[in-house]
Order: sequence, then C-alpha cells, then structure tokens
Amino acid sequence: MASITMNNIVKKYDDGFPAVNDVSIDVADGEFLILVGPSGCGKSTLLRMVVGLEDITSGDLLIDGQRVNEKEPRQRNLSMVFQNYALYPFLTVYENIAFPLRLAKGKFSDQEIDQKVRVASDLLDLNDHLERKPGNLSGGQRQRVAMGRAIVRDADAFLFDEPLSNLDAKLRGQMRTEIAQLQRRLGITSIYVTHDQTEAMTLGDRVAVLKKGRLQQIASPRELYEQP
Ligand code: ADP
Ligand code: ADP
Repeated sequence: MASITMNNIVKKYDDGFPAVNDVSIDVADGEFLILVGPSGCGKSTLLRMVVGLEDITSGDLLIDGQRVNEKEPRQRNLSMVFQNYALYPFLTVYENIAFPLRLAKGKFSDQEIDQKVRVASDLLDLNDHLERKPGNLSGGQRQRVAMGRAIVRDADAFLFDEPLSNLDAKLRGQMRTEIAQLQRRLGITSIYVTHDQTEAMTLGDRVAVLKKGRLQQIASPRELYEQP
C-alpha cells in the first residue's frame, strides 16, 4: 500500500493548452478516491500521469514520499484496470490472472503463482471459471478477471479508468458493490475515474471534482451531495 501525492501537477499537450492545470491531491494510504468531471476535464490524463504513461509538464508526483515524475511505469508498482479489460483471448482465466507473475521471469515459482492465483480467484468468485477463455465469460466475469490480474501483483495501488462503463445497468450495480467490498477487504489505495454519479456517491471515501483541468472541489460524497 502507498500514499499518492500530487503537488501542483500541470499537463500541457502539444497545443499548449493545459489539460490538467495545477492539481494538488493527497491520496492517503488505503484511501479510495473517486475522480469525476465532464468529458475532457482531464481525468484520464491525470490518471495516466500517475501510472507513468504520460509525461508531467510541471509539478511533483510522489508515491509513498518518493518522487516519481518520470514517464516510466516500471518505476512504480501500480495496477491499472481498464474499461475494455485488456484480457488475452487465447489464454485461460487462470493464465490471464497469472500473466503478470509469469512476466516477472523467475521471480515466482509455479507453486507461488498457483497460490496467488487461487487467493485472487477465491476473492473474486472465479474458481469455477479458471479453465475458460475470456470470450466465453460475461462482462462482469471479465472485469473480475481483470481485477484478479491487478490483485496478484500485490500492487501498491489500483487505478481504475471507468471500469464499468461497458457493462449494462444491472451488472454495473452488482460490480459496483463487489468493487467496494473488495477494496475495503484489501484496504488498497485506489483512484477510480468515473462520470457515473452513483459510483461517485457510493464507492469512495472522497470525491475529487475536476473541471477544465482544474480541481474544483474535493470532499466526502456526503459533503459533496448534501450541499445546496
Ligand atoms: P477526460 O478523461 O476527463 O475525458 P482527458 O484527460 O481525456 O479528459 O482530456 C483532457 C483534455 O486533454 C481534452 O481537452 C483532450 O482533448 C486533451 N487531450 C487528451 N489527450 C490528448 C493527447 N494525447 N493529445 C492532445 N490533447 C489531448
Ligand atoms: P476518454 O474520455 O474515455 O479518456 P478520449 O476519447 O478522450 O477517451 O481519449 C481516448 C484517447 O485519445 C486517449 O488516449 C487520449 O489521450 C487521446 N486523445 C484525447 N483527446 C485527444 C486529442 N485532442 N488529441 C490527441 N489525442 C487525444
């Protein structure tokens, strides 16, 4: 687990217009932070800088107090969960979950990998599906496999980029509950991007509202939505 500190973060793309403009947010160890705002307000850009997929124009990013400004995902131990799952269609559920451990060549024995995959599949109720391929799974099951892959890495934090936006309303509600429970159980620091009001109101400890690249407000869901 880790804290994530953003100090006066600015991102300018080639057109020079700041997509993220002087944003400072302190995400505490184990906190679940929701990032909301209209399309184009800079949510994805901010998340991509945190994960190391995008350069920071100015400002400082600290993970557990360590400065990690460079665009270098390997510098940090973070897991990103995308809306399109990014699963490997030709691998079984088991091998999809095990994939990040196999990538770390020689670091984990087959036995260790097996144990980690079992723990994740227990948590995510995937035990009956381990030998199936992603193509035969429901959207909710695929999203759980994607989370399993994030869990086995023992990451310091989860970053979610609208993970439920491709699911139908019923499944979205179910997965919302599952993600909330899972995050509480694991107590892992999380940043969750969404434009869904219900997700923003129910999932997080705090909600950060971005508008045109600026941090407009940051408060608990209750404080935010009880305002006149
Ligand atoms: P959101 O995730 O809130 O929809 P984005 O972070 O995707 O917002 O985009 C913020 C702003 O930055 C938008 O004006 C968008 O057009 C611009 N933008 C995003 N990515 C790029 C890019 N690779 N090059 C240039 N402009 C970009
Ligand atoms: P989202 O709002 O879900 O992030 P977008 O359609 O804004 O999706 O962005 C999809 C991809 O296109 C992202 O990788 C983003 O960085 C890139 N992008 C967005 N706006 C621009 C832009 N104006 N110029 C170049 N790339 C962009």
